[in-house]
Amino acid sequence: MTRLPDAKLYIDGQLRDAAGGRSYDVISPWTGEPVGKAADGTAADVEAAIAAARRAFDTTDWSTNTAKRVELVKKLRELFEQNRDRLADLAVHEAGAAQGAVFRAHVNMALDGWDDYIAVFPKVEWEKDYGTKPAFGFNHKRIAVREPVGVVAAITPWNVPLYVNIGKVVAALLAGCTVILKPAPNTPGMGAIFGELADKAGFPAGVLNVVFGSDPAEAGEILTGDPRVDLVSFTGSTGVGKRIMERGAATLKRVFLELGGKSVKIVLDDDPNFAMSVATTILVFHAGQGCAVQSRLLVPRSRYEEAKAILKQAYAGFGDNWGDASNPEHIMGPVISKKQMERVLGYIELGKQEGATLLHGGRARPDKGGGFFVEPTVFVDVSNDMRIAQEEIFGPVLVVIPFEDDDDAVRIANESQYGLSGGVNSGDPERAQRIARRIRTGSVSVNNGMCIAGDIPFGGYKASGIGREWGVEGIEEYTEIKMLAWPTGQAA
Ligand code: NAD
Repeated sequence: MTRLPDAKLYIDGQLRDAAGGRSYDVISPWTGEPVGKAADGTAADVEAAIAAARRAFDTTDWSTNTAKRVELVKKLRELFEQNRDRLADLAVHEAGAAQGAVFRAHVNMALDGWDDYIAVFPKVEWEKDYGTKPAFGFNHKRIAVREPVGVVAAITPWNVPLYVNIGKVVAALLAGCTVILKPAPNTPGMGAIFGELADKAGFPAGVLNVVFGSDPAEAGEILTGDPRVDLVSFTGSTGVGKRIMERGAATLKRVFLELGGKSVKIVLDDDPNFAMSVATTILVFHAGQGCAVQSRLLVPRSRYEEAKAILKQAYAGFGDNWGDASNPEHIMGPVISKKQMERVLGYIELGKQEGATLLHGGRARPDKGGGFFVEPTVFVDVSNDMRIAQEEIFGPVLVVIPFEDDDDAVRIANESQYGLSGGVNSGDPERAQRIARRIRTGSVSVNNGMCIAGDIPFGGYKASGIGREWGVEGIEEYTEIKMLAWPTGQAA
């Protein structure tokens, strides 16, 4: 049986157990059995991490010594490279990633994103010249300087933990901030490895701290309420995002939120690859647990029956080729937890009650193992006002909605509280682009264009978030702008 290394906290340069010495079991989504142990951090640990990060920001040269920062961030990146296999193990056994998914979204895309951050870092505009302007008889020279925002609390989810941890930690460190990383209770090891390798790389004490525990909310509640934390960078559910914003208000904390989604894929009637575009929407990769997955498929009413037949065949073709942790071909495993499985199954029941037709799947699959397996599932005859079309299920459940024309497709796409991502497929790229520009989301893929990568910004409109991660914009989120001005002589 696989056994992951114990996940330890990293506070003020020390790898340690929780204050009081408690630990908790990390549960494998594949078996439902313990697969490792993690320190069960307490309020005292979180306090110590905040104090250390504050001290490191206020009293060391971390925020001003750019060359040292870049060198250490690169060194840390090398150590992650040397630990690819361990990262893969963590993705499989903590996050439930199938082998065929591990070296895509979970490890490769994450480490590539790290490289992208390093590549775009020189583009950060640390100073901007605003020229001279006369006032009160004198000319005044003005420049803007960009400075790190300070102490950052990075609170992250379990679904693609390495990718999200890198998205926040690397950007904040490059910007010159000090960081407290708080991974989800299910994936502590993917956080702990940052502490372990930062220690090895020789990071100054307090610059990067890692805390976690079995209670999902305790550490986050402390971090969001503490005046010594300058910015909370959060990826997770919209409900918790709202709570963070509310709690951050007391100290007027900057909040940067990457939240949920219910993204569309619109396949237009003129798509020459109609069958392929519809078939490839089957929601199976990582059991549908991705924030930007296209979980609402919109097809023309005139081709709805055809789309149904294509999907029936595509799901049948995918068949039972999922759910085996040792199979390198599998791209779908379990969902993360019993709670998540019950939530997904609850939505499947709801879909039936709402009058949608179950075209494929719909059941739990205990025969796959003791873990949390839900079949690939697709509902047709769905209308956009159903809860299964409006709420984020975060599981392998696709809903298929008919539209009348381009305006109707845009209306349906935008009639959502979310605004994260989406896609449009058409034989006419200009028509597709026109539609893409009308969809109120942070990214849209046109004819399968890759709109998510480490060198371009990613984020949401509406209830999908505030701010942008990745790219130069993702580094600049962790900065403040300060104006400096001085008189240069009498105005003419
Ligand atoms: P979650 O909101 O339950 O938890 C996310 C993190 O917040 C965890 O670390 C959790 O311990 C912490 N947390 C819980 N309560 C808190 C509180 N009161 N104060 C502060 N922190 C608290 O989300 P999850 O179930 O771990 O992840 C799934 C969600 O994440 C989905 O909604 C998904 O769409 C979203 N997500 C979004 C993106 C994106 O970039 N937009 C990326 C990945 C996941």
